[in-house]
Amino acid sequence: MKVYRPSSLGEALDVRAAHPEAVPIAGGTDLMVELNFGRRRPEAFVDISRLPELGVIRREGDTVSLGAGVPYARIIRELPDQVALVQAARTVGSPQIRTRGTVGGNLGTGSPAGDALPVLAAYDARIVLASARGTRRISWRDFLVGPKRTALAPDELIVAAEWDVPQGPGSFSKVGTRNAMVIAIAGLSLQVDEAARGVRVALGSVGPTILRAPDAEAFGAGALDESGAWANPEAGVPEAALARFGELVAAAAKPIDDVRGTAAYRRHACGVLARRALTWALADRRLPAS
Ligand SMILES: Cc1cc2nc3c(=O)[nH]c(=O)nc-3n(C[C@H](O)[C@H](O)[C@H](O)COP(=O)(O)OP(=O)(O)OC[C@H]3O[C@@H](n4cnc5c(N)ncnc54)[C@H](O)[C@@H]3O)c2cc1C
Repeated sequence: MKVYRPSSLGEALDVRAAHPEAVPIAGGTDLMVELNFGRRRPEAFVDISRLPELGVIRREGDTVSLGAGVPYARIIRELPDQVALVQAARTVGSPQIRTRGTVGGNLGTGSPAGDALPVLAAYDARIVLASARGTRRISWRDFLVGPKRTALAPDELIVAAEWDVPQGPGSFSKVGTRNAMVIAIAGLSLQVDEAARGVRVALGSVGPTILRAPDAEAFGAGALDESGAWANPEAGVPEAALARFGELVAAAAKPIDDVRGTAAYRRHACGVLARRALTWALADRRLPAS
């Protein structure tokens, strides 16, 4: 097996162009499992774990750009104000996995159970892709095209995920058979956008790919409007509206039965996670600004 070890993004893109069969490897926490179980045996790898360009976290104005090669452990340390993403990063694997695993790898695998992905969807993130032909930015929605299927071209690399920092509380939570080292049975990220008076909800592990819940989002924003909570956080929303919000989120799921859980359980879990997430967000909005 051949391993290319480029030392810059430019070199790596030249390798990708010349050897599209060479599989990029970052933390290796997904790929090595595939190799160890004999599911994949690539002819060649491109080791992208040392490319400085992929390890950069940049803030320009209200935009965050997270390098594809930044591991979860650094996200937790260096992006504390991106609360939902930090919460997702904390739930990934174990300390060893969080030290090696990257959001670029989560995106590259494109599993509906990737924990960073509902957060990127709730942030309305753009995925930055580069090849020797140039750079393009596409929405997370156009990138994640199906179960473990992405829009990455054979000569491209994921360079970063970038998003406009939402002003408002957000969270990530997941349901699994235990508290750590677990693939989610259902995952949910909720993000309040105070400027747009919007509520965004994204679901993981309950469909072929990451799903947003547009009806629930419209209902949630409307419920805050009706109760006057956009202007006055103390107003909150009635219990019945929280319950309806949960029902609409559950209705947006497209789950299947599998070894981890039944479709019915997953749908139920989405409703519970949604009600909790909106309750937390409403409570956070009542906190005095720090
Ligand atoms: C014990 C264990 C526990 C885990 N727990 C969780 C968990 O709780 N939650 C969760 O979401 N995941 C979990 N995972 C899966 C894995 O850790 C994550 O998906 C992680 O984000 C993968 O990142 P990586 O850098 O290791 O990817 P790699 O294994 O290096 O690559 C994964 C895929 O992405 C591609 N790729 C990687 N980077 C790029 C790039 N920059 N451009 C183009 N393609 C790229 C690779 O070619 C490959 O197809 C776990 C894995 C293990 C082994």
